[in-house]
Amino acid sequence: GVIGLAATGHLKIGSFIIKETIGKGAFGAVKKGTHIQTGYNVAIKILNRSRMKGLGTVTKTRNEIDNLQKLTHPHITRLFRVISTPSDIFLVMELVSGGELFSYITKKGFLGVKESRRYFQQIISGVSYCHKHMIVHRDLKPENLLLDQYKNIKIADFGLSNYMTDGDLLSTCCGSPNYAAPELISNKLYVGPEVDLWSCGVILYAMLNGSLPFDDQHVPTLFQKIKSGCFNIPPMMDKEAADLVKIMLKVNPVERADVKQIIKHGWFKIDLPFYLFPE
Ligand code: ADP
Ligand code: MG
Repeated sequence: GVIGLAATGHLKIGSFIIKETIGKGAFGAVKKGTHIQTGYNVAIKILNRSRMKGLGTVTKTRNEIDNLQKLTHPHITRLFRVISTPSDIFLVMELVSGGELFSYITKKGFLGVKESRRYFQQIISGVSYCHKHMIVHRDLKPENLLLDQYKNIKIADFGLSNYMTDGDLLSTCCGSPNYAAPELISNKLYVGPEVDLWSCGVILYAMLNGSLPFDDQHVPTLFQKIKSGCFNIPPMMDKEAADLVKIMLKVNPVERADVKQIIKHGWFKIDLPFYLFPE
Protein backbone atom coordinates (compact mmCIF):
# COMPACT_ATOMS: atom_id res chain seq x y z
CA GLY A 1 0.00 0.00 0.00
CA VAL A 2 1.01 3.64 -0.26
CA ILE A 3 0.71 4.23 3.47
CA GLY A 4 3.20 2.82 5.93
CA LEU A 5 5.17 3.54 9.04
CA ALA A 6 8.83 4.56 8.99
CA ALA A 7 11.31 3.17 11.55
CA THR A 8 11.16 6.55 13.32
CA GLY A 9 7.41 6.18 13.82
CA HIS A 10 6.65 8.82 11.18
CA LEU A 11 3.89 8.16 8.65
CA LYS A 12 5.09 7.17 5.19
CA ILE A 13 3.19 8.10 2.02
CA GLY A 14 4.62 6.56 -1.14
CA SER A 15 8.33 7.37 -0.99
CA PHE A 16 7.89 10.34 1.38
CA ILE A 17 8.06 10.60 5.17
CA ILE A 18 5.51 13.00 6.63
CA LYS A 19 6.85 15.42 9.23
CA GLU A 20 5.62 18.47 11.16
CA THR A 21 2.67 20.69 10.20
CA ILE A 22 3.75 23.91 8.48
CA GLY A 23 0.38 25.39 7.58
CA LYS A 24 -3.31 24.97 8.07
CA GLY A 25 -5.41 24.89 4.90
CA ALA A 26 -9.16 25.04 4.48
CA PHE A 27 -9.27 21.30 3.61
CA GLY A 28 -6.56 19.90 5.77
CA ALA A 29 -3.04 20.43 6.96
CA VAL A 30 0.09 21.22 5.01
CA LYS A 31 3.03 19.21 6.35
CA LYS A 32 6.72 19.11 5.71
CA GLY A 33 7.86 15.90 4.02
CA THR A 34 11.12 14.25 3.02
CA HIS A 35 11.81 12.06 0.02
CA ILE A 36 13.24 8.89 1.58
CA GLN A 37 15.83 8.02 -1.09
CA THR A 38 17.25 11.52 -1.59
CA GLY A 39 16.45 13.49 1.58
CA TYR A 40 14.83 16.17 -0.62
CA ASN A 41 12.34 18.25 1.41
CA VAL A 42 8.83 18.95 0.11
CA ALA A 43 5.51 20.30 1.33
CA ILE A 44 2.61 17.84 1.45
CA LYS A 45 -0.94 19.13 1.38
CA ILE A 46 -3.51 16.65 2.62
CA LEU A 47 -6.97 16.93 1.06
CA ASN A 48 -9.81 15.00 2.61
CA ARG A 49 -11.93 13.46 -0.15
CA SER A 50 -15.21 13.85 1.67
CA ARG A 51 -14.71 17.60 1.67
CA MET A 52 -13.81 17.91 -2.01
CA LYS A 53 -16.17 18.03 -4.95
CA GLY A 54 -15.81 15.06 -7.29
CA LEU A 55 -12.49 13.82 -5.98
CA GLY A 56 -13.95 10.60 -4.67
CA THR A 57 -15.82 9.57 -7.81
CA VAL A 58 -14.91 11.19 -11.08
CA THR A 59 -11.71 10.03 -12.77
CA LYS A 60 -11.77 13.08 -15.05
CA THR A 61 -11.03 15.14 -11.94
CA ARG A 62 -8.01 12.97 -11.28
CA ASN A 63 -6.77 13.73 -14.81
CA GLU A 64 -7.27 17.41 -14.21
CA ILE A 65 -5.21 17.30 -11.01
CA ASP A 66 -2.60 15.30 -12.92
CA ASN A 67 -2.54 18.14 -15.45
CA LEU A 68 -1.53 20.59 -12.73
CA GLN A 69 1.71 18.62 -12.43
CA LYS A 70 2.62 19.83 -15.92
CA LEU A 71 2.63 23.47 -14.82
CA THR A 72 6.22 24.60 -14.46
CA HIS A 73 6.90 28.27 -13.89
CA PRO A 74 9.39 30.05 -11.62
CA HIS A 75 6.56 31.80 -9.72
CA ILE A 76 4.09 28.93 -9.41
CA THR A 77 4.54 26.41 -6.59
CA ARG A 78 5.39 23.15 -8.37
CA LEU A 79 3.16 20.12 -7.83
CA PHE A 80 5.50 17.12 -8.00
CA ARG A 81 3.21 14.23 -7.31
CA VAL A 82 -0.36 13.29 -6.41
CA ILE A 83 -0.84 10.26 -4.15
CA SER A 84 -4.36 8.91 -3.60
CA THR A 85 -5.77 6.78 -0.83
CA PRO A 86 -9.45 5.92 -0.36
CA SER A 87 -9.87 8.73 2.17
CA ASP A 88 -7.34 11.40 1.20
CA ILE A 89 -5.34 12.92 -1.60
CA PHE A 90 -1.76 13.94 -0.87
CA LEU A 91 -0.33 16.74 -2.97
CA VAL A 92 3.46 16.63 -2.91
CA MET A 93 4.66 20.15 -3.65
CA GLU A 94 7.74 22.30 -3.80
CA LEU A 95 8.58 23.50 -0.26
CA VAL A 96 8.57 27.29 -0.08
CA SER A 97 10.38 28.55 2.99
CA GLY A 98 10.03 32.34 3.20
CA GLY A 99 6.48 32.55 4.58
CA GLU A 100 3.38 34.27 3.26
CA LEU A 101 3.45 37.64 1.48
CA PHE A 102 0.55 38.49 3.80
CA SER A 103 2.71 38.24 6.96
CA TYR A 104 5.49 40.15 5.23
CA ILE A 105 3.20 43.09 4.35
CA THR A 106 1.71 43.03 7.85
CA LYS A 107 5.18 43.12 9.41
CA LYS A 108 6.39 46.04 7.24
CA GLY A 109 3.10 47.96 7.18
CA PHE A 110 3.30 48.56 3.45
CA LEU A 111 5.85 47.96 0.67
CA GLY A 112 7.76 50.47 -1.44
CA VAL A 113 7.14 51.01 -5.15
CA LYS A 114 10.19 49.08 -6.39
CA GLU A 115 9.54 46.03 -4.20
CA SER A 116 5.79 46.02 -4.94
CA ARG A 117 6.46 46.25 -8.67
CA ARG A 118 8.85 43.29 -8.54
CA TYR A 119 6.32 41.07 -6.73
CA PHE A 120 3.52 42.28 -8.99
CA GLN A 121 5.47 41.47 -12.16
CA GLN A 122 6.18 37.96 -10.83
CA ILE A 123 2.52 37.43 -9.86
CA ILE A 124 1.20 38.59 -13.27
CA SER A 125 3.76 36.40 -15.05
CA GLY A 126 2.64 33.30 -13.10
CA VAL A 127 -1.06 34.11 -13.47
CA SER A 128 -0.66 34.71 -17.20
CA TYR A 129 1.17 31.38 -17.64
CA CYS A 130 -1.65 29.47 -15.89
CA HIS A 131 -4.35 31.29 -17.86
CA LYS A 132 -2.58 30.23 -21.07
CA HIS A 133 -2.96 26.67 -19.79
CA MET A 134 -6.67 27.33 -19.16
CA ILE A 135 -6.32 27.26 -15.38
CA VAL A 136 -7.93 29.98 -13.27
CA HIS A 137 -6.96 30.40 -9.62
CA ARG A 138 -10.12 32.12 -8.28
CA ASP A 139 -8.69 32.53 -4.77
CA LEU A 140 -5.66 34.78 -5.19
CA LYS A 141 -4.79 36.67 -2.02
CA PRO A 142 -1.57 37.40 -0.10
CA GLU A 143 -2.12 34.23 2.02
CA ASN A 144 -1.76 32.18 -1.18
CA LEU A 145 1.37 34.05 -2.25
CA LEU A 146 4.45 32.54 -0.67
CA LEU A 147 7.98 33.95 -0.65
CA ASP A 148 10.99 31.73 -1.22
CA GLN A 149 14.43 32.14 0.35
CA TYR A 150 15.37 34.78 -2.26
CA LYS A 151 12.13 36.77 -1.74
CA ASN A 152 10.66 35.57 -5.00
CA ILE A 153 6.94 34.94 -5.28
CA LYS A 154 5.57 31.39 -5.45
CA ILE A 155 1.82 31.27 -6.05
CA ALA A 156 0.18 28.41 -4.10
CA ASP A 157 -3.07 26.55 -4.80
CA PHE A 158 -3.33 27.15 -8.57
CA GLY A 159 -6.12 25.05 -10.09
CA LEU A 160 -7.39 23.72 -6.79
CA SER A 161 -10.42 25.98 -6.35
CA ASN A 162 -12.12 23.97 -9.13
CA TYR A 163 -12.26 20.98 -6.82
CA MET A 164 -13.89 22.76 -3.94
CA THR A 165 -17.63 22.66 -3.53
CA ASP A 166 -19.19 26.09 -4.00
CA GLY A 167 -19.81 26.15 -0.26
CA ASP A 168 -16.12 25.58 0.41
CA LEU A 169 -15.08 28.24 -2.09
CA LEU A 170 -17.46 30.66 -0.46
CA SER A 171 -16.16 29.79 2.99
CA THR A 172 -12.50 30.28 2.01
CA CYS A 173 -13.69 33.45 0.31
CA CYS A 174 -15.41 34.38 3.53
CA GLY A 175 -12.19 33.84 5.46
CA SER A 176 -10.82 36.71 3.39
CA PRO A 177 -13.41 37.89 0.85
CA ASN A 178 -11.67 41.23 0.31
CA TYR A 179 -9.90 39.96 -2.83
CA ALA A 180 -12.95 38.41 -4.55
CA ALA A 181 -14.12 39.89 -7.86
CA PRO A 182 -17.70 41.24 -8.04
CA GLU A 183 -18.83 38.54 -10.51
CA LEU A 184 -17.53 35.83 -8.16
CA ILE A 185 -19.80 36.98 -5.32
CA SER A 186 -22.91 37.79 -7.41
CA ASN A 187 -24.07 34.39 -8.76
CA LYS A 188 -23.06 35.34 -12.29
CA LEU A 189 -23.13 32.50 -14.83
CA TYR A 190 -19.80 33.49 -16.30
CA VAL A 191 -16.73 33.47 -14.06
CA GLY A 192 -13.52 33.52 -16.10
CA PRO A 193 -9.82 34.39 -15.77
CA GLU A 194 -10.74 38.06 -15.24
CA VAL A 195 -11.44 37.25 -11.56
CA ASP A 196 -7.72 36.64 -11.01
CA LEU A 197 -6.77 40.02 -12.49
CA TRP A 198 -9.24 41.76 -10.16
CA SER A 199 -7.58 39.99 -7.20
CA CYS A 200 -4.15 41.08 -8.51
CA GLY A 201 -5.41 44.68 -8.53
CA VAL A 202 -6.46 44.35 -4.88
CA ILE A 203 -3.10 42.74 -4.02
CA LEU A 204 -1.19 45.60 -5.70
CA TYR A 205 -3.26 48.15 -3.78
CA ALA A 206 -2.64 46.26 -0.51
CA MET A 207 1.13 46.06 -1.05
CA LEU A 208 1.50 49.78 -1.79
CA ASN A 209 -0.90 51.13 0.84
CA GLY A 210 -0.94 48.50 3.58
CA SER A 211 -4.73 48.74 3.48
CA LEU A 212 -7.54 47.24 1.41
CA PRO A 213 -9.56 49.03 -1.30
CA PHE A 214 -12.75 47.29 -0.14
CA ASP A 215 -13.18 46.53 3.53
CA ASP A 216 -15.92 46.19 6.12
CA GLN A 217 -16.46 44.14 9.30
CA HIS A 218 -19.92 43.27 8.01
CA VAL A 219 -19.64 40.85 5.06
CA PRO A 220 -22.85 41.90 3.21
CA THR A 221 -21.69 45.53 3.38
CA LEU A 222 -18.26 44.48 2.11
CA PHE A 223 -19.90 42.67 -0.83
CA GLN A 224 -21.92 45.83 -1.60
CA LYS A 225 -18.71 47.86 -1.65
CA ILE A 226 -17.00 45.36 -3.98
CA LYS A 227 -19.98 45.32 -6.35
CA SER A 228 -20.08 49.14 -6.41
CA GLY A 229 -16.42 49.21 -7.45
CA CYS A 230 -15.91 52.47 -5.50
CA PHE A 231 -12.70 52.79 -3.52
CA ASN A 232 -10.38 55.53 -2.24
CA ILE A 233 -6.93 56.27 -3.56
CA PRO A 234 -4.78 57.47 -0.64
CA PRO A 235 -3.16 60.86 -1.51
CA MET A 236 0.37 59.50 -1.04
CA MET A 237 -0.14 56.55 -3.39
CA ASP A 238 2.10 56.47 -6.49
CA LYS A 239 -0.02 58.07 -9.25
CA GLU A 240 0.91 55.69 -12.05
CA ALA A 241 0.34 52.64 -9.84
CA ALA A 242 -3.04 54.08 -8.86
CA ASP A 243 -3.89 54.37 -12.55
CA LEU A 244 -3.02 50.69 -13.07
CA VAL A 245 -5.11 49.65 -10.06
CA LYS A 246 -8.08 51.64 -11.42
CA ILE A 247 -8.09 49.81 -14.77
CA MET A 248 -7.81 46.45 -12.96
CA LEU A 249 -10.67 47.12 -10.54
CA LYS A 250 -13.40 47.57 -13.15
CA VAL A 251 -16.61 45.87 -12.00
CA ASN A 252 -17.47 44.76 -15.55
CA PRO A 253 -15.01 41.96 -16.46
CA VAL A 254 -15.22 43.01 -20.13
CA GLU A 255 -13.87 46.48 -19.29
CA ARG A 256 -11.23 45.18 -16.88
CA ALA A 257 -7.56 45.33 -17.97
CA ASP A 258 -6.30 42.03 -19.36
CA VAL A 259 -2.72 40.74 -19.14
CA LYS A 260 -1.81 42.42 -22.45
CA GLN A 261 -2.90 45.83 -21.18
CA ILE A 262 -1.25 45.32 -17.78
CA ILE A 263 2.16 44.41 -19.20
CA LYS A 264 2.25 47.43 -21.50
CA HIS A 265 1.24 49.82 -18.72
CA GLY A 266 3.96 52.40 -18.01
CA TRP A 267 4.20 51.55 -14.30
CA PHE A 268 4.51 47.80 -14.95
CA LYS A 269 7.16 47.98 -17.68
CA ILE A 270 9.87 49.60 -15.53
CA ASP A 271 12.69 47.12 -14.65
CA LEU A 272 10.74 44.19 -16.15
CA PRO A 273 13.11 41.18 -16.35
CA PHE A 274 13.18 39.84 -19.92
CA TYR A 275 12.50 36.23 -18.88
CA LEU A 276 9.14 36.88 -17.19
CA PHE A 277 7.24 37.23 -20.47
CA PRO A 278 9.07 35.15 -23.06
CA GLU A 279 7.62 35.25 -26.56
P1 ADP B 1 -5.69 26.70 1.83
O1 ADP B 1 -5.69 27.47 0.56
O2 ADP B 1 -6.56 25.50 1.82
O3 ADP B 1 -5.92 27.59 2.99
P2 ADP B 1 -2.87 26.59 1.45
O4 ADP B 1 -2.42 25.77 0.32
O5 ADP B 1 -2.91 28.04 1.18
O6 ADP B 1 -4.24 26.09 2.00
O7 ADP B 1 -1.92 26.26 2.67
C1 ADP B 1 -2.11 26.83 3.94
C2 ADP B 1 -0.80 27.39 4.42
O8 ADP B 1 0.21 26.37 4.43
C3 ADP B 1 -0.25 28.47 3.52
O9 ADP B 1 -0.81 29.72 3.79
C4 ADP B 1 1.24 28.41 3.86
O10 ADP B 1 1.53 29.09 5.04
C5 ADP B 1 1.46 26.92 4.04
N1 ADP B 1 1.88 26.32 2.77
C6 ADP B 1 1.09 25.92 1.73
N2 ADP B 1 1.80 25.43 0.71
C7 ADP B 1 3.09 25.53 1.07
C8 ADP B 1 4.35 25.19 0.43
N3 ADP B 1 4.39 24.65 -0.79
N4 ADP B 1 5.49 25.44 1.11
C9 ADP B 1 5.45 25.99 2.35
N5 ADP B 1 4.32 26.33 3.01
C10 ADP B 1 3.16 26.10 2.40
MG1 MG C 1 -4.47 28.78 0.35
